[in-house]
This record gives sequence, C-alpha cells and structure tokens, in this order.
Amino acid sequence: MGEFQSFPAGIRTRSEPVPIEVHRTAEGKFVSLNLLPNGSLVPRGDAAPEGEVAVGFDGKFATQGLIDLQVNGFDGLDFNRGEITGEQLDQALVSLAKTGVTALLPTIITGSPHRMVSTLRELDKAVSTSRLGPHMVVGYHIEGPFLSPKDGFSGAHNGSHMTAADLVLVDQLQAVSSRKIKLVTIAPEVDGAIEIIQALTERGTQVAIGHSAANADQISAAVEAGARLCTHLGNGLPQMLHKTDNPIFWQLADDRLTAMFIADGIHVPLPALQTMLRAKGPLRTILTTDAVAAAGHSMWPGPYTLGDAAIELAEDRSVRIPGSRYLAGSSVTMDQMVRNMAVWFDQTVPNLLQLMRENPLRFISDQHEAVPLGATDGVVEWETRSDEWFVSNTHIGPFTIE
Ligand SMILES: [Zn+2]
Repeated sequence: MGEFQSFPAGIRTRSEPVPIEVHRTAEGKFVSLNLLPNGSLVPRGDAAPEGEVAVGFDGKFATQGLIDLQVNGFDGLDFNRGEITGEQLDQALVSLAKTGVTALLPTIITGSPHRMVSTLRELDKAVSTSRLGPHMVVGYHIEGPFLSPKDGFSGAHNGSHMTAADLVLVDQLQAVSSRKIKLVTIAPEVDGAIEIIQALTERGTQVAIGHSAANADQISAAVEAGARLCTHLGNGLPQMLHKTDNPIFWQLADDRLTAMFIADGIHVPLPALQTMLRAKGPLRTILTTDAVAAAGHSMWPGPYTLGDAAIELAEDRSVRIPGSRYLAGSSVTMDQMVRNMAVWFDQTVPNLLQLMRENPLRFISDQHEAVPLGATDGVVEWETRSDEWFVSNTHIGPFTIE
C-alpha cells in the first residue's frame, strides 16, 4: 500500500478556494470569506458587508473550530494504550474533526511513571507522523498520578499508582514530547501539590483541580498557587457529600476558577448542570467530552479499554468499569454537546462557542488573546436539520474533512 491509499477516508487536500459564510463567534457577525488551499482565509469580493449581525443560526453557517481540553481516545482508539501509529491517529482525528473539533489536548491518565512516559512518547510520535496531528494536537493534558487514591474520588483511575506530586515526573513526560504539556490535573491535598502548582504555573502550564478530597483551605491554597481550572466539576467525587459544605460549592464560589463540565446528561443531572452553569457563568465555563475510545458517531455498546483498564459502553451511552458504578470517561462528542445544550438550555451558537472555543482557547493560548478566525486552526461548516445543528465539513490546515 502506498502512502495515498493509507490516507484516511473522508479527508482530502484542498486544491480550490472554498467559499465560506461565517457567523463570527462572539458577536454573531456575518462575513463572507474564501478558504484558500493553504488554510488561510481572505475576504471574498462579492462578500456581504462585514458587521451585519446574523439574526439566527439556521440553514448553513460556519464557525471557528471547537476545542476539547480532555480527550482520552476516540472512535475505537485508546490514546492511553501505547503503540499507536500515525495512520490510526489520523483515523481518530478525522472522526473528531467530523464532530467540529479542530484542536484538542489528548489526555494521559494515571499509570506507573514508566507507563505514563512510554504512553506519551508513543502518542507524541504518532502525532508527529500523522497528517492531522500537527494541526489539531496543540499540547497534552496529564490527569494523574497526583490525585486522591480514595474510593469515590479516584473514579476510574488506578489508586495504586497515585503518588506525591513530583516535578521530576512532569519533566520526564515533557522530555519525551515534542508538544507542550498544557494542562495538569492535580488534587491539592496530595503531598507537594502546592509547590508543583506554583512551579507549573510559572512555566505556563495550567493546573486544574480534580479527583480531589481537598478541604476548603487546601482548594484555596491551590488557587493562590495558580490553579485556575476544575476538571469535570461534579465528578471524581463520592456519591455522598455534605449537602452544602462541599468541594463542588467551594469551587463554584471561587471566581478565579473556570470549571470544565461534561454535558452528556450522564455525568451531571440536568438541574445540577444548569445550576452549576449559572453559578460559573458563560466566561468561567468550559465544556469538555472526557471522551474515551468508545466515543464517536458510530460506536457500538461493548468492551473498550482506557489504558490498562477494561471499560464498557452501555446501551444508555454511559462508559463504566464493568461491574462498577464509576464512570470511566464518556462516549459523548462535542457536536452532540452542542445539540444537547441547545435543546436543554436554549443555548445559542455564540454562547456555545464561548464555552467550547473561546474559553478553552484562553487556557491553551500563549498570547492570552483572541485568535482571528482561521489563523491557527480550522473552520467548521454546519447545517441545520430538524432545528438541530450538524457538522457538514471541517477545514483544518490544508485538509478538508467531509
Ligand atoms: Zn477524570
């Protein structure tokens, strides 16, 4: 098989400019552009005047790409299994692009130090040899092993590998990766956590609080040290907590923290999700999938893996460790979360882009400023069917995925 044949189905290199009607993200303003074969966007001669505000999002429209800060795998591929080829990764990234994602942080979960390092080395090699990886993988998220090993807090992570916070391990992970570790999820009560949060923050790596049994003072100390995110707030916690004096409220109340939520209708019941979204507001909320290999548009219920763990996709689309009530990531996709949020909470396209693009971008962008459309990543074309939004084409760098 030559290189051409191994090109994944559904992706092609653009040879002609593609006309794009764009409703710009924050204000919903309307512009007409041509997407050139090299991935840059230029105004179109016959364009409608820039600045006209779009009345609604129906029919066809385009947006900037969605950004997912927590992806453990997708479309049958487990990013934590090691031994991944560039071709396999491209297939998963094509499927992700079809869900409107143009940038992501693949996520490495708790394992032995040796295992985590080898997993990231293999994954990063696959990113470098794939076609879409260099465009879509903007860095990595390390979730563990500096987390709570306590039952109910550890979730699907293997508590036996959890350790005191150790910058040496983060350095070893960074040393085998050609892309930056952008985000580390840490439990603030773990020995050495506050020091490592400070050190990571100083070098420009974001820290999220998650899988944590910290008390209110320990959470405050983590925020003082620079932690600015909460990983899947409402999850990675035991079923029973104090009714009002608990880590969810402590993190909701702290305006320095932006919370990530999984809007799949499974991780957090809708009234709780709605309440938490209101508490954090549109500027401090990020939606992530926490997707595992069982996530994707055409995945069947059955067994999958998450690193060393056997996991199972059930008929209700929840993913669990077989025989356990603990969720092991999700099977949801970003475009499904767009539809969920629109149906459940009347969220508009500009609102959703705030939660699924602008806010996550703040935490992965080194410039901490808005990136103009098409400057770094892709363009997503949407179409409306039965009043719901579906991705029709995604353009990333020189590639069109349809
Ligand atoms: Zn987690």
